[in-house]
Amino acid sequence: MKKTVLITGCSSGFGKTSALYFARQGWNVIATMRNTECDAGADLAAMDGVLVTRLDVQDAASIDQAVAAGIARFDRIDALVNNAGFGLFGVFEAMSGDKIREQFDVNVFGVMDVTRALLPHFRHHKAGTIINISSGAGVFTLPMISLYSASKFALEGFSESLSYELAPLGITVKVVEPGGVISTSFGQRSGAEAGHASTLPDYDAFITATSAVFAGLRGQRLATEEDVAKVIYQAATDGTDQLRYVATDDIKPLVKARRESTEADYMQLMRSQFMMR
Ligand code: NAP
Repeated sequence: MKKTVLITGCSSGFGKTSALYFARQGWNVIATMRNTECDAGADLAAMDGVLVTRLDVQDAASIDQAVAAGIARFDRIDALVNNAGFGLFGVFEAMSGDKIREQFDVNVFGVMDVTRALLPHFRHHKAGTIINISSGAGVFTLPMISLYSASKFALEGFSESLSYELAPLGITVKVVEPGGVISTSFGQRSGAEAGHASTLPDYDAFITATSAVFAGLRGQRLATEEDVAKVIYQAATDGTDQLRYVATDDIKPLVKARRESTEADYMQLMRSQFMMR
């Protein structure tokens, strides 16, 4: 029998590419997005076994409707990919309270609400896989992404704890951690968010120096959306209880440093990159 996945944030980036990838592997796909009247919506709706339906993770009624529509069409949902998210970049002090709350509403509470909507279905079938799209910024942090990182650290803690609770019920939780993939709309949108923040001149020198470090990082060869979609698919299908998947090579040195260095060595490494006196 064909398996079915529900994916959030399919209007672009990893969501769209993963929806296409799962469909090409023979899965049914419930491709959800805030606005279905977009190019991705049309492309996906044209594929066999794909249901395109509206889901805004900040709108509880739309979550319930999307889950119900998916079950009505395919009868069973086997996997959930909590992909929808955005990055609020810039210095913390310049961010408005509304933006900070939106960051957590989408990246954290949105994931919780979609997960909660599917849990009764997964418990009923004593099976299900939940894949949360975190980030390298959920493992280590960098300057000027304090709010994005806080949201992804929260997602990591939530996912790890939930994995213990749900394992006895036959439900598996997984976390996929991509690094920088510049082909999605993510960087552009994060840059736009940073641009909206009012500037505080005291930070100017720090922002200039940090931006130069980031520009160097962006020069490295980066992974593609397809690379990340393959790791998401692997997490859905490998049949293991592996919790975390580092999805791209660019972040592996920093993930290794964070996980395997002493705290003192790790902080010295990071401060040598970013701290100015
Ligand atoms: P993207 O192209 O900007 O896609 C983000 C998706 O999330 C879009 O479909 C967007 O929909 C959706 N979204 C935003 N707010 C939403 C809401 N309230 N309800 C439903 N959907 C919403 O970026 P991406 O790179 O594919 O990002 C996907 C995930 O990967 C995010 O969780 C991000 O944090 C993570 N990630 C990305 C990178 C990277 O470098 N690209 C690295 C690590 C982790 P709209 O079109 O309606 O806004």
